[in-house]
Amino acid sequence: MEKGAQLYEGKAKKVYATEYPELLIVSYKDDATAFNGVKRGTIAGKGVINNRMSNALMRLLEKQGIPTHYVQELSERDTLVKKVEIVPLEVIVRNISAGSFAKHYGVEEGIVFPEATIEFSYKNDALGDPLLNAYHVRALGLASADEIALIKQYAFQINEVLKSFWSSCGVTLVDFKLEFGRLPDGSIVLADEISPDTCRLWDSETGKKLDKDRFRRDMGGVEDAYREIMTRLEQKLGASE
Ligand code: 5GP
Repeated sequence: MEKGAQLYEGKAKKVYATEYPELLIVSYKDDATAFNGVKRGTIAGKGVINNRMSNALMRLLEKQGIPTHYVQELSERDTLVKKVEIVPLEVIVRNISAGSFAKHYGVEEGIVFPEATIEFSYKNDALGDPLLNAYHVRALGLASADEIALIKQYAFQINEVLKSFWSSCGVTLVDFKLEFGRLPDGSIVLADEISPDTCRLWDSETGKKLDKDRFRRDMGGVEDAYREIMTRLEQKLGASE
């Protein structure tokens, strides 16, 4: 499959047309940004890891009945995906307090919630991705009530699959961000990526952060952390796939 015209360049990925109007190629970059683009840098090898990890996790989710945009891994950085109309929401699921939750509500990081939480923010860089609730989503015409219900159902199902997978790798899934899209027939599928850029992943024994917070918080060891989490995933899937 050949790359056609570049359609879009985001912070971490480029998107290309293909000879098929219903398919796109996503190409993962090593560029990293944080705090709405204020902090910029490069994480060597990140694009390869995020591509392969996201694809492996989407294949796992598909096996569990969650529809995704994933079609085929083309190379270490490139993946064929179904073209979707992105629902402009960041869907965030949390199992443990961290990040903006800890900041907003004045609590320490690491509180294990009795049940997972979900929140939406409006995917809009100019506005700084403001939080919104289901009424706001409908008022702005971003998604219908049925779509919101399905997105919530998928998000919690995805949490159960990913929590249990990462737990089997000795990793605690703290929280993560999902994006969904609409196929031409209107059905909702998981889109974007699932990677250390979009999830908080802590070593279950030591609590060591194995995700993008090392970059966001200038903790050092960023590349090593990405390689370590990828090795854990590969060791697990090598044994079972
Ligand atoms: P928080 O709201 O605590 O900053 O982030 C919650 C979770 O969602 C974290 O796992 C974080 O990686 C992910 N997340 C939230 N917003 C974004 C975003 O704009 N980009 C990326 N890559 N991840 C995000």
